[in-house]
Order: sequence, then structure tokens, then C-alpha cells
Amino acid sequence: MRFPLLLSAASLLLAGCAGVPSVNALHEPLYRAENHVSTIVVRTREATDGIAEVRVEATVGELTACGTFPPSLIPCRSNASTVAAVCTFANVKTEVTCSLPLALGPRRLVTYRATARSGKNKTASTPAVTYAGGAPLTVTTVNLPFGTITMPWETARPVIWRTDAPSSSNDRGDKIDLGLVPDADMPSYRDFTDDLDPMMRALFYTDTNAFSTWNRTWKNIFNLWAGPTGADGNGCTRTFSGAAATVRAAFDGTSILHRDTFRDCASISLGGGAGTSQTNLTDATWVFLHESGHYLFGLGDEYVGGGNFSISSPLNIYASKASCESSSLSNSLPSTQCVQIGTSGTWRNDDGQATTMEDRTLSSDWRTFSAKALGTRLSACIGGACY
Ligand SMILES: [Zn+2]
Repeated sequence: MRFPLLLSAASLLLAGCAGVPSVNALHEPLYRAENHVSTIVVRTREATDGIAEVRVEATVGELTACGTFPPSLIPCRSNASTVAAVCTFANVKTEVTCSLPLALGPRRLVTYRATARSGKNKTASTPAVTYAGGAPLTVTTVNLPFGTITMPWETARPVIWRTDAPSSSNDRGDKIDLGLVPDADMPSYRDFTDDLDPMMRALFYTDTNAFSTWNRTWKNIFNLWAGPTGADGNGCTRTFSGAAATVRAAFDGTSILHRDTFRDCASISLGGGAGTSQTNLTDATWVFLHESGHYLFGLGDEYVGGGNFSISSPLNIYASKASCESSSLSNSLPSTQCVQIGTSGTWRNDDGQATTMEDRTLSSDWRTFSAKALGTRLSACIGGACY
């Protein structure tokens, strides 16, 4: 039987292999568009044999628009060189850290990977991550048959790009490319990058609440990108001008981050949509995630008075009780859980637990049809075509 075998392989992965270090690496800050010291921090632990050595290797070069015509929105790298840090330990059995600081000037593109070795020579490595730092590219030079031209150009700015080979030809079909851009009300671009850092760090790495479980579990299917100024989300308008409009084409979904108080909203989309997210709310990360449910997964609001309409697969909102019940049965959900959303004439499957498209609480999760719809998207990503 194939299924139990897969299950046991999965539990082995979750438990970690005996004696093999667990190792995580993340750079700090996640993105900053000015000269700064970026620190790659590796955390590793092996409780039985201890950690003997940690190696962090970074490839640093110049971010370019690839020299093609038209120039690329996804950057390439030129003039790369490699730097590394090696930390040694006396087989320490508690968590140890090893850091590689990098002084980043304009238009840097960095790729890093970390390897930890146990006291018994068992090793584990992190998947490669690529990110940008320093002042962004604003002009590019293109070689044409009749000569060289210099033109204004901006690229997408990788915040967490899961690749060891940054290039315009990098296949991103198996990733959800999530873009972040500043709203017109952001006081400065630095404020925008300062605000995105704790939200993305929590959502994909450090939060411990139920609402972020799915993103933390499946973080490796997401690439995170920053984009230039030019977006405005006030009043659900979501306008993109100039470079913000151009660069947005590289993203599967875009969040406009703002500080002024206005109600957040999003398009109901499966690729190419956008939403807004207020960064100074106490539950900003939850609101960001709820809006991403609309513009990344096509989910509708399940609360009374929301936009009770969906294009997700399967739908999470139905126009009749009968269609909700029939879809519930074909998706292995109890059809008796179909309930009307207020008196809206639309229906949902409610298992009684807090769900992210309905309940604004950190203990929410993706329930019933929402969970199925995210599963559909995840399968598509694993199959190589998220959208
Ligand atoms: Zn909503």
C-alpha cells in the first residue's frame, strides 16, 4: 500500500532524521534599499551528537536587468564573488548561531546557503535564498545591433527568492511570487521596508498562532519581492503608475502596504490580483493574510456584510444551499454544515471553528472549502504551475 508508506516518510521528515542537524538561515533586514550591513543568521541544533561546525556561504554581485531588450523585470547578476563564514563548536547540543555580515552598497544581489555538521559528521544544508540590497537599479544599458542605449528601468527586488541561480530565465512556475509595494501614504521607502520586515518574518517564520501555520509550513513555495513606489490603495482603488505598474507584472499577487487608516480590500483573483494591508494594526499580519486569501486564492469573505463571492477551486461561497451541499459531498465535507451567510442568499460550509475568511482572530485557520482551495493551489505549485 502506497499511502501508509508516504505517511511514514512524511512523519520522518517532520521529526527530523536521527543525528542530522536542523538548520535555518535568514538574512536581516529582509530588504533595505540603501547602503547597509546585512547579516545572514544561521541557527542550528543537534541534540544527540552536538554541532561541530557551521558554514555560511554567500555569492554577492551586481543586480542587473540582464542586458536583454526589453530589459528583464527579474534581475540577473554579474561580477559575482563568494564570501564565507565558518563557525566551529565543541559539539554543542543546544542551539548555536553563526552569522555572516555583509556590507551592501548599491544594486547588490546576494545568494546564500548554510551547512551545519554534527559531532558525528552528519550534515544538513538550507535551500538557497537570493535577495537584493542597496539602492535599486534605475537605469540600464542595452546592447542593440546598431549600438548601445541607456534607458530608465526598474526590476523586481527580491526579498526572499528561493533560487541559487538568479536570472531572468529562472523558472518560477512552482512558486507563488508575492509582491509588496508601498502605498502613496508611506512616509518613505525606508518606512515601507521597515514595516514589511516584521510582517513577513512573522507570517513565514516566527509567528506561533494558528492563522500563520499554512504559510509557515509551505514557506518554500513563496518568493517574496518588493516593488517601486507608484501604487495607491486608498478607497479600494488600487492604482499602479510608472515603474510600480511595470514591475507588478512579475508578481502573482501584490500587496500595497499603507499606514493611514482606511479599510483594507482586495481583488478576487487567481493570479495577477492585488490588495491593501495596513502595517500599523496590532493584527497587521493577520489582515495581510486574510487579504491574500482574496487576491492569491480567489476566496470570498465568509462574514456577514463582506464580499460573499469567490472564484476559488473549490468555491468557498455558493449561490444556493443545494450547490453548497453538492460541492461539500464531492469535497469530502459534511453537507450538513452548509449555512447561509446572514440573509445574503449565499452559502458556506461552517465547521464551527474560527476560519480566516470569516473570523478576525489570531486563532483562525483555513477551514472547510478554504482549506481545500489552498490545497488545490499547493498541488498546482508542486506540479510546477501555481497559476
Ligand atoms: Zn475580506
